[in-house]
Amino acid sequence: MKEWEQEVPLIIERGKGPYLIDLQGRRYLDGVSSLWVNVHGHRHPILDKAIQDQLKKISHSTLLGLSNPPAIRLARELVHLAPPGLTRVFYSDDGSTAVEVALKMAVQYWQQRKPSAGPKWKFVRLALAYHGDTVGAMSVGGVELFQERFRPLLFPSMPIDPPYCYRCPLHLKFPSCQMACIDPLEELLAKEHQEIAGVLVEPLVQAVAGIVTAPAGHLTKVRALCSKYHVLMIADEVATGFGRTGKMFACEHESVAPDLMAIAKGLTGGYLPLGATLATEEIYQAFLGEYGEWKTFFHGHSYTGNPLGCAAALANLEIFKTERTLAKVQKRIPVLQRVLKPLARLAHVGDIRQCGYMVGIELVKNKATREPFPLTARMGHKVMLEARRRGLLIRPIGNVVVLMPPLSTSVKELRQMVSIISQAVTVVGRDLGQTMEKAGRM
Ligand SMILES: *Cc1c(COP(=O)(O)O)cnc(C)c1O
Repeated sequence: MKEWEQEVPLIIERGKGPYLIDLQGRRYLDGVSSLWVNVHGHRHPILDKAIQDQLKKISHSTLLGLSNPPAIRLARELVHLAPPGLTRVFYSDDGSTAVEVALKMAVQYWQQRKPSAGPKWKFVRLALAYHGDTVGAMSVGGVELFQERFRPLLFPSMPIDPPYCYRCPLHLKFPSCQMACIDPLEELLAKEHQEIAGVLVEPLVQAVAGIVTAPAGHLTKVRALCSKYHVLMIADEVATGFGRTGKMFACEHESVAPDLMAIAKGLTGGYLPLGATLATEEIYQAFLGEYGEWKTFFHGHSYTGNPLGCAAALANLEIFKTERTLAKVQKRIPVLQRVLKPLARLAHVGDIRQCGYMVGIELVKNKATREPFPLTARMGHKVMLEARRRGLLIRPIGNVVVLMPPLSTSVKELRQMVSIISQAVTVVGRDLGQTMEKAGRM
């Protein structure tokens, strides 16, 4: 905040398509979909109208003991689109709450399904995982910087190696490694599955970790091990859902169906906060019983199933159909890949990772040794500022420049975005070279 107070703040007043417009009327391309939420661009007429129409009926009524048409219709649509077996929808407010719900549901499910099995409440997750900022979601997270201060508040979870090929924790190479990073999961499950409620995974892309893309087959292996050892597979599709990877959900790339699935971010097209946790019929059934059995899932937020949010989400899904969003995105993904390729030649670009419209460009101090910049060098931040001067808004994660444009972004706009990032990285790299030279002369 100290730094922010010294800078001239950028205040966004309006948006249109892929553009954000500030108070002075300056236009910027929205390179991170307003934090990974926007899908079809800003001010989409169908989305705008859906919310206006819903406003004329009602803005909010509770889903606790009641229901409303948009929430009912949306649940039906989600079940229709989701990987097979996910037949039930539990609404909440955002990605973090959708994950909290999944964790609580998993623990209660095991208690009610098989009380004789003893407590089954532990969670396995990937190192570098990110599942949200609330205390439960943080407990299954692995970003040290975000959580170390809160350690005393967090319940323990068991990390396994992330599939981070550029910085392989086992110092192996794919595919000759045969995905050895997954072996510890089997060891862990074999030993402790009786106490493990679930395994959490961000399918295909660990986004906050720095757009860390898993090699093909990783997700399939996680699914197989969860089934083999009777633990729930919990897919966090908060970032990857709604077309971001080229399919509606990332799990579809490997035909994987999780037992629980958390969604949020793109659910409303990036218009309103809304989250949902999808569950299998088997999980749902375990919560049915006579009143006095107390099988109720005691979890309900004030704005759960908010009709405005659900109306926006329905419009979002409708646009996917009418504009054939996925088909269009799938055509542009290889183009984006080609456009990104030349960036690999830049002095400080160590790795370019792409899965659909999710891109991470990892900047390194030394390309040969892959030595990272110290975080205090704020390389990503510097690139962000240079990009802003050139009309592109991005938000880096440490040394990783993240590009995650709305799915509606055209090839022309994609080229513009990548070109600006290329210029920004070049300029920051050159300044750095000059500073190092000066330091050397002194
Ligand atoms: C953003 C994110 C969350 C948290 O969602 P919020 O809506 O910010 O609470 C959870 N999981 C993943 C994978 C995310 O990217």
